Amino acid sequence: MNTDTILAKVRSQEKWIHSRLRALVLQESPSEDPASINAAGRLVEGWAKELGGKSRWHRQKDFGDVLELRFGSPRSSQKPVLLLGHLDTVWSLGTFKSMPWRESQGKFFGPGVLDMKAGVVMALAAVGVLRDLKITRPVILLLNSDEEIGSTVSRPITERLAKESAAVFVLEPAQLFAYKTARKGVGHYTVRVTGVSAHAGVDFQRGHSAILELAKLIQTISGFTDLQRGLTVNCGVIAGGTRSNVIASEAHAEVDVRIARASDAALVDRKFRKLKASDKVCKLEITGGINRPPMERKPGTIALFKQAKKLAAQLGFDLDEAATGGGSDGNFTAALGVPTLDGMGAVGEGAHAAHENIVIEHLVPRTALLAAMIAETA
Ligand SMILES: [Zn+2]
Repeated sequence: MNTDTILAKVRSQEKWIHSRLRALVLQESPSEDPASINAAGRLVEGWAKELGGKSRWHRQKDFGDVLELRFGSPRSSQKPVLLLGHLDTVWSLGTFKSMPWRESQGKFFGPGVLDMKAGVVMALAAVGVLRDLKITRPVILLLNSDEEIGSTVSRPITERLAKESAAVFVLEPAQLFAYKTARKGVGHYTVRVTGVSAHAGVDFQRGHSAILELAKLIQTISGFTDLQRGLTVNCGVIAGGTRSNVIASEAHAEVDVRIARASDAALVDRKFRKLKASDKVCKLEITGGINRPPMERKPGTIALFKQAKKLAAQLGFDLDEAATGGGSDGNFTAALGVPTLDGMGAVGEGAHAAHENIVIEHLVPRTALLAAMIAETA
């Protein structure tokens, strides 16, 4: 396979890539609005059909539908490559008023352009180029509707398709310029304390402050952090009490947990379950758990990255690998033992931020690399 040919082919599609990207960004698709996500899905489905793709909708009740697209020969003896993307964004309907689509200084700006509408369009372009070059290796492009809110309904679909695939390529943005070979696992806990309320002046000794108890627990919980293990615990939200002259009967904290090692999931969970109130009258309720396992840097992923680095060099650029504390759907597939490479989408900055943008000049070489990776992966 000749990377120069792939690069030239992708370059000839550059206008196609830009116009599709603009159209997809202009179709808003916040996680909480199924109708608009489905409209974005139909847009992509139409383009996929032009490229000979076959579509299957996984209908959802409370979320947008999940779109499965298949390309290449179904009679191939080769296992498919699974390309993972999401159509939902963190941007509410009407965001264009403050964040219009625009091109400036070699960048495209707009809600969801980096995370991850550019990745979706790059995947379609890569598939189209391989088709032009008569490379018929099977490809599944799975576009879900709930990644930004935890991938609850899409997770089983993602996991099922990953199990039948040779490798998983995640279309999330690059980490600066790097592909991602490791991601932390993510957990969320709520710690709720119930105490006994009393008048702070008249009946002080009859009260049992939920706030005081929670404050002590926060010290303990924060102490679970072990930077050397890549384990972090952040009490990001606290609330409780009613008035300054009332001893608080209720207080709670919402806690974000990140783990680098899969084995730490059970360890952290045990620590949360073993928490005890120091004031015996206060009651504790702990809910939550680890919901994304970590994507550990395993041999299968390292091999994929080495292959990507070699192909990138042939395409004329240097590719690094990086680890991140953020989770993606790649966490699920990597945890199943399926070689997973992440960050294969666009180069840009400001995901989930008002200045979200992608750097236009990287679209073509990165799409060529994605196509070459699909073709080369055994
Ligand atoms: Zn994303």
